[in-house]
Amino acid sequence: MSIVSYQFRIYPNTSQRQSLIDHFGCARWVYNRYLSEAHDCYEATGKAMRRNDFIVRLVHLKKDYPWLKEVNSQSLQMAARNADRAFVNFFEKRAKRPRFKSKHTCRQSFQCPQHCKVLFPEIGTKGHIVLPKIGAVKAILHRRFNGTVKTVTVVREPSGKYYASVLVDNGLVALAPDIIDFEHTAGIDAGIKTAFTVVSQNGTEKIDSPSFLKKSSEQLKKQQKRLSRCKRTVTFKENEKGEKIKEVSVSKRYEKVRQELARTHERIRHRRKDWINQVTRRLVNDSQVTTYVIEDLNLKGMVKNHHLARAISDVGIGNFYRALRYKLEAAGKNLVVAGRWFPSSKLCPECGTKKESLTLRERQWSCAHCGHEHDRDEAAAKNLRHWVKLTEIEKHRYGRNGRALEREAIPF
Ligand SMILES: [Zn+2]
Repeated sequence: MSIVSYQFRIYPNTSQRQSLIDHFGCARWVYNRYLSEAHDCYEATGKAMRRNDFIVRLVHLKKDYPWLKEVNSQSLQMAARNADRAFVNFFEKRAKRPRFKSKHTCRQSFQCPQHCKVLFPEIGTKGHIVLPKIGAVKAILHRRFNGTVKTVTVVREPSGKYYASVLVDNGLVALAPDIIDFEHTAGIDAGIKTAFTVVSQNGTEKIDSPSFLKKSSEQLKKQQKRLSRCKRTVTFKENEKGEKIKEVSVSKRYEKVRQELARTHERIRHRRKDWINQVTRRLVNDSQVTTYVIEDLNLKGMVKNHHLARAISDVGIGNFYRALRYKLEAAGKNLVVAGRWFPSSKLCPECGTKKESLTLRERQWSCAHCGHEHDRDEAAAKNLRHWVKLTEIEKHRYGRNGRALEREAIPF
C-alpha cells in the first residue's frame, strides 16, 4: 500500500471556525501538559513516561477540565502521541528537548485520525470535508483520489487561511524498482548559481533557480521594514507568584501588516512547491532514465554554512529530493543517495584524480593530471552518475550506509 497526501484549502463558517479554534487550543493544552508531565517523570525517575498511562489519565482530566469534552477525543490522543514522539526523540538523542507550544505561534494545527470524510463535488453541490465534532466544512477539492482517508490534519496558517492535509491510502502496491544500470542513470548536483545540474546519457541539463524567489525577497524586505515601524509595546507584569509575565500589545496596523507579510511568505511557499512538483515530475517522466543519484547533503550541517544556507532554503533542496523520491517510488524507479564522504565535486570525471582544494567560488577548474577543463556543477553530476559503477568496497569506503534523507511528508 502507499500513502499519498493531498492539501486542500477549507472555508469554515463562523461557528466551525470557533470549534476549530477550540480544537487547536485543546490539542495544544494536551501537548503541553504531556510535555510537562513527561519532564517531571524524567526528573524524578530518569525514565520516559508511558504514553498509555497518560491517555488513561486524560479521561480523568476531562472531569477537572470539562472544556476538553467539547472537542474530538481522538484529536487529543493524537496530540499526546505527537508529544510522546517528540519526547522520545529527545530521550534517544535524535532531537532537542521539545518546546511548549504557544498560543501566539501563528501556525496552529490538530489531527483527526478517524471518521473523516472527503465529499467530492457533484452537480449542484460543493466539495466538503467532514470532520468529527465540527461537521462538513466547505473545501476546494481540486484533485480527486480513490482510496481510504487515513488522517486529516487541519492547519491555520499565519495568514489566517485554513487548510486540510489529507493522508490517503490508495491501496496500490508499490511497483518493484527497475534494475540499476549505468546507461539509464542520471546524476543530479545541487548548486548555488544553478539550482540543479542533471547529467544523463542525453547530456547535461542545467535547471536555474526560479526567478520569482528573488523578486519576492525584495517584497519581503519592504514588508519587514514596514512591520518594524508599526507600534508594538512590550510590558512586564508580575503575577501572584511574583513571576514576571511578558505582555505584548500590538496596534491594529501592526496586525494588518503582519498578515500581509504572512501572506507573502505563504505565496512564496506555494510557488516554490509548485516549481518543485513541476521539475521533479518532468525528471521522473524522462523515459531514458530509471535511476537518479543524488549526494548525501547532510542538510542540517550545510545550513550552518551561510553561503549555502540561502541557496538551500531558497530552492528547498530537501523538499526537492523528497518530492523526487516519492514520485520515483511511485513510478518504480530508483533514487540512490551517494555516500556522505564521496567527494563528488572534487573528482575529475575523466581520470578520477582528486583535486585537493576547491573553494565554493571556483566555478571552473582543470585537472592537474589529464588537463581536462571542468564546469564545477557538471563534473559533480557526472561523478554522481558514476557512483552506480563503483564496487561495493569503494561505496563502503565513502560511507555507503550514510544516513539517507528522512522519509517525512513534504511540509506545506
Ligand atoms: Zn583528470
